[in-house]
This record gives sequence, structure tokens and C-alpha cells, in this order.
Amino acid sequence: MRQRTVIGNWKMHGSVLTAGSLVSEIIEGLTDLSGDSQIAVCPSFVHLDLVYQILKSSGSKIELGAQDARAEDKGAFTGDVSVSMLKDFGASFVLVGHSERRLGLGESDELVASKFGAIQDIGLTPVLCVGESESQRETGKTEKTVLSQVRAVIDKFGISAFEGAIIAYEPIWAIGTGVTATPEQAQEVHELIRAYLAMENALTADSVRIIYGGSVNSRNAASLFNQRDIDGGLVGGASLKAEEFISICKS
Ligand code: PEP
Repeated sequence: MRQRTVIGNWKMHGSVLTAGSLVSEIIEGLTDLSGDSQIAVCPSFVHLDLVYQILKSSGSKIELGAQDARAEDKGAFTGDVSVSMLKDFGASFVLVGHSERRLGLGESDELVASKFGAIQDIGLTPVLCVGESESQRETGKTEKTVLSQVRAVIDKFGISAFEGAIIAYEPIWAIGTGVTATPEQAQEVHELIRAYLAMENALTADSVRIIYGGSVNSRNAASLFNQRDIDGGLVGGASLKAEEFISICKS
């Protein structure tokens, strides 16, 4: 049985006041979190410590994640944050390869793979975001796009890099658009990713968590999460509303 995981990606939203009250409301709504599910929130870098302190003092099982990291551990990289800094701040998850970074900042599959390795090396959980654009889907390139994003990690670190890691399938056309992949569309790609990993190592493929992201909300979460190869969700917009996020986690 794979653990169920729901991660909230707060992106570049929130203030000291709203980030603090959002996490407090989420904690209150999820006090009965069962042992076999894992919930995390990923605030902006500047709100990590605030959110961590609130989580820690409440005794909540909700975990902390970050939205990105630099692959190098230290150096002259103005504006960047290393994985060890994130670990120091209490993060246990780090997202890499979100399409907003791949597209907006030109992050290549190779760079994303390097970040993935750095996160894995230090003992945190990397969440590798993969997904195709609308035109790639329309021209039949979904499989090639998604699998080459996964391949970049295998080529650099081998299949064992996926042990304990998370893959988030996030079709770009579904992110922040209100258009969700149907449960069948999402399941098809999740199954494809798992089968691809299985060609390298069946046990790793069976144990790796593959979560879905792209306009998940309280109305569609259950039908998505009920699919055989969907192990939870990466939630953007809906994770900024405590009630919505709580309801998604309960799905
Ligand atoms: C995301 O940014 O990872 C995401 C899934 O966003 P949304 O839920 O808003 O589509």
C-alpha cells in the first residue's frame, strides 16, 4: 500500500498575517489526520519559518515543504536557497521542476534532475513535477514529454533515486486553469509513468508515489484520488483556502 499524500503549493502568495492564519486553520481542520496519510504545505521561502513554528508548536503531523531549491549547497548564487538551508528550516519536501519554473525560468530537464539529486542526497523528499503542454497533448507528445522528464533523473542518478521520492503529474493545461484532467486521463499517464519505471525496477515502480496536480478542488479530488495509480494530489489555488484544502485532504 502506498502512502496517500496531499501537498499544498502556496506559490508566491501570502503575508505574515495570512500565511499564519491559513496554516492555523488547516491544522485545526486536520487534527484527526490518519497515520497512513501525509499532508504538507509549501509556503514561500520567506514564510517557511513562520509556518514551521506554528506547525511545531501545535504538534500537528502536517509537514513543511519548499517550492524549489538550488542544486549547489553553497556559493555565490545571489537570491537562491540551498537544500541544506531548507532542511535547517524544517522542510521535509521540496518541489522541483514545476512548470512555472520550467517554462517561466527555462529550467531544463537536466537542471531539474540535479536539484532532485541534491534533495535526495540530504535526506529530504523530492517531488518531481512533470507534465505536458496543451499543444504537446494535442500533437500526441504527452508520453514522450513526461517520460523524458522522468528519464533525466534516471540517467543522472539511476532508478534507485525514485525510492522514497514523489512524482507529481501536472498537465500544464490544467494548472490554474480550472480545467482538470479527467480521472481517466490522469490515470492513463500515471499508469504510463509507473510502467516506465517498472522496466527499470518493478519494486521501485510499485512503491513510488505519483500524485496528480492541476485544478484539484473539493469536488473533483475524490474521483481523481480513487484511481489505481493516483496516490494523492499537488494542490495550488485550492490550497490557499483552508476549507477547500481540508476537504481535499479528507478525500
Ligand atoms: C500547481 O501549481 O502545482 C497546481 C496544481 O496549481 P492549481 O491547483 O491551481 O492548478
